[in-house]
Amino acid sequence: MDERCIHDLVVQQCVDCAPVPEGLVRFVYITAGGEVFHRSSACKALEEGQEYALSVGMDTHPRRRVALAEATAEGRGACAYCFWDYIPR
Ligand SMILES: [Zn+2]
Ligand SMILES: [Zn+2]
Repeated sequence: MDERCIHDLVVQQCVDCAPVPEGLVRFVYITAGGEVFHRSSACKALEEGQEYALSVGMDTHPRRRVALAEATAEGRGACAYCFWDYIPR
């Protein structure tokens, strides 16, 4: 049985209660077209990705600030550029 938080959610899935792994932050930035999450909306890798998308005629997507739990629930990984010191376990 998974541990439940005060919001009656599985702790790992609760935006407010899920523990933030060392090296990550509680709120991250994503774009609908990307596969990773970013520490900052001004991430250089994020900008370059959007420039690249534009250069090949792809649509770009607005940056959204979401909870880390939401981003990881979508299967996103940490951006290697902004979370260079984060080692997934
Ligand atoms: Zn909770
Ligand atoms: Zn990034």
